[in-house]
Amino acid sequence: DAQQAVAETELLERREHSFATVQEHYFETPPQIERGWRHHLVDTRGRGYLDMLNNVTILGHGHPGLGEAVHRQWQRLNTNSRFHYASVVELSERLTGLLPAELDTVFLVNSGSEAVDLALRLAWAATGRQDVVAVEEAYHGWTYASDAVSTSIADNPNALASRPPWVHTVAAPNSYRGRHRGPQSRRYAPEAAARIRELADQGRPLAAFVCEPYYGNAGGMALPDGYLRQVYEATRDVGGLCVADEVQVGYGRLGSHFWGFEQQGVVPDIVTVAKAMGNGHPLGAVITRRDIADAYRTQGYFFSSAGGSPVSSVVGLTVLDALRDEDLQTNAREIGAHLKDRLLELAERHALIGAVHGSGLYLGVEFVRDRESLEPATEETAAICDRLRELGVIVQPTSDRQCVLKIKPPLCLTRRSADVFADALDDVLTHGW
Ligand code: PMP
Repeated sequence: DAQQAVAETELLERREHSFATVQEHYFETPPQIERGWRHHLVDTRGRGYLDMLNNVTILGHGHPGLGEAVHRQWQRLNTNSRFHYASVVELSERLTGLLPAELDTVFLVNSGSEAVDLALRLAWAATGRQDVVAVEEAYHGWTYASDAVSTSIADNPNALASRPPWVHTVAAPNSYRGRHRGPQSRRYAPEAAARIRELADQGRPLAAFVCEPYYGNAGGMALPDGYLRQVYEATRDVGGLCVADEVQVGYGRLGSHFWGFEQQGVVPDIVTVAKAMGNGHPLGAVITRRDIADAYRTQGYFFSSAGGSPVSSVVGLTVLDALRDEDLQTNAREIGAHLKDRLLELAERHALIGAVHGSGLYLGVEFVRDRESLEPATEETAAICDRLRELGVIVQPTSDRQCVLKIKPPLCLTRRSADVFADALDDVLTHGW
């Protein structure tokens, strides 16, 4: 064990020398994770952790069917995407089959950032305009355009001050905290609509409105009822397009719906997908209407070397097969409902829990120092995550205030493991961190 500890420390030191340190990583002294199985991670000392964080690995770790499919395809063929092969067609058909009929055309890329970037480029090409409205407290990626519409100050304290002039923001439609709370949160939509009209009146009509249809980055929170319906209407009234960023919340995680936008009763013009789509393999997609996709021709041809490669396409198809065959959306709904009940019960006994947000296996536990002032319990949240890690549970803070536990485990989570997590949280809140 002592030898193992020395080896781990050495590896961490080497990491500091060779790997850019500005990259997000977990915990002061991260466990060295080399294996995973379903919703568990295993470190080099053989210690298992419950993975309550990993929204990328939607099927769970070490999925045998996915491993075998990738192995088979790699031995057969992987190449850039200039060629014609069945899996790229089948994946495109499967994606459009999961969406309303008008969303009939697919671009395959390699990440969420690329998907959002391409979505904005499509909106620019199709409308001939550049202005975009994004909501505050949102994250959409790191490439030029996706970063421009990322307004969260958690990753970048200058996010709001450094926007390019074509990005306009509206208030975070946060019904728990912010300008409008509870039933008053219905006011966010008319305010956003008024801003969109105002921009048009000033001669800057929108190319696009971009938003997560379920507020992932703010802590897994539903948008106020009717929010997207009203804001989409205002966007379309001025000739703009509506982009739904499903990178985090789509693919069945919400339990009640496969896509976040369904929960709002709207149909977007452009949908972006990634993360879950590849179960951790770099894979993303933009799905839109044929007329919008065709408008890209004014920019030339679209080409992404590995986007929709044979291996990536097989990954995409295998993930969709497993989601269906293992009934993971139903599991997200049932286990998610049980876990939310357990967390709501904890909120009755622990004053630090201000709210439990979310749906299915996308939940957020928001910690506050005071339930009236809603002062965020930021330091407490970090300490609670560290203590939970010691107890064998991996979970991390989110939101601009870093006071929300983001709970987005693989969708194969069991009831027993949901209870292990709730019991561990109860223990930490009772006995201290
Ligand atoms: N959109 C949303 C909503 C996201 O949460 C993320 C990643 N956190 C992205 C886009 C960017 O995805 P990627 O990291 O795959 O580039």
